[in-house]
Amino acid sequence: MQTDRPETSAERDTEPADFIGGLRDVVFRTRGKTFWSYLSPAWTALTGYTIEESLGRNILDFVYPDDRPANSLRKQQLESGEISASRHTKRLLRRDGSFVWIEVDLRVLYDAKGAFLGSVGTIRDISDRIALENAVRHERERASVTLMALSDGVLTLDPALRIEFLNQAAADLLGLKHATEALDLPVDTVLALASHDLHNVLQAARRAGQTRTLADRCRHPGAEADWVDVDLTLIPLSAAQQGCVIVLRDVREQRALQARLHHQARHDALTQTLNRAGMLDELRRAHATFARTGATFSQILVDLDHFKLVNDHHGHATGDEALRQVAQAIQGVLRVGDHLARWGGEEFLCLLPQTTLEQGCAIAERIRGAVQALQLRHDGQPIPLSVSAGVSAASVDRQDTLEQVLQRADFSLYEAKQAGRNCVWHERMAGQGVLDLVSQVQEALRADQLELVYQPIVSLATGERVGQEGYARIRLSDGVEIRAARFIPALQQMHRAYWVDERVIPRVLDDGLQGRLQGDSFVNLSADLLRRPTLMHALLDSFLQRAGCGASAQPLGQLVLELGNRPLQLDVAAVRAALQPWLDAGVRLAINQSGSGLSTMAYWTELPIHFLKIHAALLERAATTPKARLILSSIVQLARQLGCVTVAEQVDQPGLVDVARDLGLDWLQGDLAGKTQRGG
Ligand code: GH3
Ligand code: MG
Ligand code: MG
Repeated sequence: MQTDRPETSAERDTEPADFIGGLRDVVFRTRGKTFWSYLSPAWTALTGYTIEESLGRNILDFVYPDDRPANSLRKQQLESGEISASRHTKRLLRRDGSFVWIEVDLRVLYDAKGAFLGSVGTIRDISDRIALENAVRHERERASVTLMALSDGVLTLDPALRIEFLNQAAADLLGLKHATEALDLPVDTVLALASHDLHNVLQAARRAGQTRTLADRCRHPGAEADWVDVDLTLIPLSAAQQGCVIVLRDVREQRALQARLHHQARHDALTQTLNRAGMLDELRRAHATFARTGATFSQILVDLDHFKLVNDHHGHATGDEALRQVAQAIQGVLRVGDHLARWGGEEFLCLLPQTTLEQGCAIAERIRGAVQALQLRHDGQPIPLSVSAGVSAASVDRQDTLEQVLQRADFSLYEAKQAGRNCVWHERMAGQGVLDLVSQVQEALRADQLELVYQPIVSLATGERVGQEGYARIRLSDGVEIRAARFIPALQQMHRAYWVDERVIPRVLDDGLQGRLQGDSFVNLSADLLRRPTLMHALLDSFLQRAGCGASAQPLGQLVLELGNRPLQLDVAAVRAALQPWLDAGVRLAINQSGSGLSTMAYWTELPIHFLKIHAALLERAATTPKARLILSSIVQLARQLGCVTVAEQVDQPGLVDVARDLGLDWLQGDLAGKTQRGG
């Protein structure tokens, strides 16, 4: 079409070239100010109107009402010559009442004199593009609203790490009044991290092209605000954009909760001192430093004296209050860097890093004094409190393990109790030799180096084997032997003789079960085991389970538990209670007459005693002293009248065998018994 060529005044234009009919865009011409004079076939597809009914009609009729004012204005500009061409978008009404977005591209036609003649141009359907634009705008709005509404702080950064967007949560977190305040600012002028360089971590995340998360604290670098605990997520955008998104999650509550839980896991609720688990961490740390550098540390084990009485007389609540006050008193004496734990019910453990035994003892003494000075009252009545303390220190010479140091504090505490309470005892007061020996025995028991040996027992009348006594012996890995006579007294001193009993008794029973023993089997029973009825009962139960038979298992009928001097000093009723299940199972008892005094009457009368053992030392005395002989012979007679079998033990001189026989003793045990033995 020639646009600048003068036009005739015909109402309708003739059909232009055929190819126009194939175009998807509408080609049009207007004539005069308002009328369509030509429309290409695409018009019908676009609007639903036929060409016939459209030509000659006012253009404005086809414009969507809202767009008409703009259309009229443009028309005026075109007609007045203000503009000679236009490209614009508007909506066309369709025949079915709907509308379609179009883009019009037109030029004005003038006649030869330059007067307005009409226009020519194209109409393009742009509804797809508009829909897409709308969708994108909608999507943006939705994203922005979503980001704004998020409770996590979100910042998006451009490639130069300037802030493009920051949501309200981020603004709140950083103490900004409005989210817009921060726009276009470099991110590190708005956000600072306590433990990371923000710029570095951002660059690293972008280089790696990977999302990175870190736990840190953040704040506005300018503000004197408090740091806020956050979990940070850095999301680099795709390589083409090179921007970055930062998500800040406020984890203050979560961290506070974690801290509280961590505290609870390591502390005692009543006294707020460390609990066992918390203290063990500190102990391991102190011991590791000691092992690495030789820096010694000491420990004070503190136990309230007669605390049961406080509970019994004043109630558990007062007892609890006493525990709290004692904990406070101890804490008041300790120095910065020392640790205090509630180690057991009414037992506290202090760990003093970099402290010698002497310094530890001085502090323990001050603790003792501080507790004694407490003025606890209940119903106006004063409640005197005191503690006993045991002190130990790690020694490089001994290459102490943690358990050894703890154990020595425990032993020392025991000694402090024995010494009358309200006092401090330390490991060297207990005698280094004893403690070392006990530690050595403990190691050996752990390494399963305890051996069981049997001393035969024969009848003095017939020489026949009637039984044996089981003894413990320790054989160290280098072959060195430690005899029971040496280590049992050391264990007894530390009240740990049950360590041996709890191993020997089951083994003797098991040997019986295997049919390896003949006659009666004697075994020593320590006062330390008798003081632990629960352990005694457990030993019996576990044997019965192993034996897989009822309470009348054969080896129990063969077993004789031998009570030495120490058990005889215990309360007989308590001993009876501890022994009862064993007695019910058929176990019998022997009493040991070692010469340090007659066994108490109560034992003879309260317990079923089947055997009386008489030590060789008594026989020896009887051999040389007529008075001793008289006493011993009456004891033997008495025993017989009570239905007891008498056994001479530890006999290693042939002369004493005759003394025993003359006195009328029944059996003989010791080195000579094996030699005298007849037959089996
Ligand atoms: P000793 O001088 O030999 O230590 O005598 P003791 O009475 O203190 O010792 P014992 O071990 O016989 O008793 C400890 C008591 O501590 C028994 C128990 O009732 C009490 N106890 C343990 N834990 C708590 C606690 O949390 N609160 C209260 N009130 N008493 C406790
Ligand atoms: Mg106590
Ligand atoms: Mg205690």
